[in-house]
Amino acid sequence: MGAPIETELLINNKLVPASDNATFDLFSPHTGELVAKVAEATVTDVDAAVAAAQAAFPSWTSLSPQQRGIPLKKMGELVASEKDELSKLDALAMGRPVSTYIDSHYAATHFNYFAEAAYPQGHTSLNTPGFLNMSLRQPFGVVAIIIPWNAPLVFFSKKVAPAVAAGNCVVVKSSEKAPLTSWKVSQWIEKCGFPPGVINVLSGHGNVSGQALAEHMKVRALSFTGSTRTGRAIQIASAESNLKKVVFELGGKSPALVFDDADIEQAARETENSINWNSGQTCMANSRIYVAESIKEKFLEAFTRFAKARVLGDPTQKATTHGPQADKIQHENVKRYIELGKGEAGNTIDTGAGADEGKSLMVHPVIFTHVAEQSRIAKEEIFGPVVMVNTFKTEEEAIAKANDTEFGLYAALYTKDLGRAVRVGKKLESGMVGINCTSPTGCWDLPFGGWKGSGTGRESLLDSMDHYLEQKSMYIRCPGIGGIV
Ligand code: NAD
Repeated sequence: MGAPIETELLINNKLVPASDNATFDLFSPHTGELVAKVAEATVTDVDAAVAAAQAAFPSWTSLSPQQRGIPLKKMGELVASEKDELSKLDALAMGRPVSTYIDSHYAATHFNYFAEAAYPQGHTSLNTPGFLNMSLRQPFGVVAIIIPWNAPLVFFSKKVAPAVAAGNCVVVKSSEKAPLTSWKVSQWIEKCGFPPGVINVLSGHGNVSGQALAEHMKVRALSFTGSTRTGRAIQIASAESNLKKVVFELGGKSPALVFDDADIEQAARETENSINWNSGQTCMANSRIYVAESIKEKFLEAFTRFAKARVLGDPTQKATTHGPQADKIQHENVKRYIELGKGEAGNTIDTGAGADEGKSLMVHPVIFTHVAEQSRIAKEEIFGPVVMVNTFKTEEEAIAKANDTEFGLYAALYTKDLGRAVRVGKKLESGMVGINCTSPTGCWDLPFGGWKGSGTGRESLLDSMDHYLEQKSMYIRCPGIGGIV
């Protein structure tokens, strides 16, 4: 590794240090080496970024959708062509294997789509005699965007692109665990042609800059992806400041049900990938698997075989499929749950027992079976490569166990009986249901989001723009126009 990267904040199209020059250290979760000194945004920086966004709003919002689309299109090209550099930055910051980096493609699709999709429309109505009525869709003004670390460019693009396409100006705060791709993209914003202040990018911790955005009186809407705990804090900050609109994509404890007629090999391969992809650091990972009692042995044999086939190691190497946990806090947290689980589960299969992990914050996949349903490992989001595999005897029992959670992001079920698939799918309390597939399988134009504690909004190519547009009803008195005909 060369000298540590030194990052800046982007405010009003200027790359600047924090107002008090403060930085924090970012270490590689694989080697432990210092990767970057990251600018820690202050309240003054938050105020400056919000003021820049506010000043940019009138002229940005008066452009035509095509004109706003031009820089978005350029950003789409850049995030696609710079995939290698972007993937390396996330591998260095949070250990994401470059072999699993779909984020550039995802981001390019979103920038390109919203470059052409910003034609919001309201309704018109003649339903009040003597009036021509209409509703308008208009941008909020300043929108704050707070993103997590597990797929930073995905969240950056899926929120920034629709928000600015709709005519808003934004202040983005990246995660302290993975700020490098947001910083890299911030260097391209002026080059793409975004006027000063339209997109401002801050780095820093939840306390101070995240909280300052959540309570800011000039921020009119806030889109957040992250933990349910932080979502609650933001909801409170919004309520106690200006009741800004909040949109949440939060945590999960997603179930997968495997019925006795399922293709066991397919179900094991896909559920293993779901929980262990990104080293278990995926919101919609199926961390609770319920298998029909009669196929338990076969399923566990196949699942364990797939988990053991993971290639653990340096995330910057193309052969690696399983990197370390994102940072020390995340690593300690997951390890603590594994120790807890050894007491709470009837049986533990540790796929890496005895292996030397050196300085890397690696966690081998762990499988718990015979887990008490009310135990902490069955109820709390672990966010690591840790799965519980329990059994069920009847369909009703499977549904009851799947729904016995405060989360509701993604549920999966495997069966060859289509009637049962739809019957069970209807009863699952979840924003998304995979039938004979599981997460991360999804569809970019269908609503993505959670029921219960997993969120309050829905994002997708077709849905996201709604979050960034206010509605207004206008009633125009038109004497002489009469009634509806
Ligand atoms: P986190 O909640 O700890 O942090 C997310 C962001 O919020 C970070 O930028 C952080 O700095 C900021 N933040 C922290 N405290 C804040 C506060 N008081 N006010 C404002 N901002 C604050 O989450 P994380 O650890 O970065 O991400 C993991 C979590 O995100 C998991 O729970 C995961 O399930 C969830 N997640 C959900 C989705 C989804 O689409 N539903 C996707 C990815 C991750």
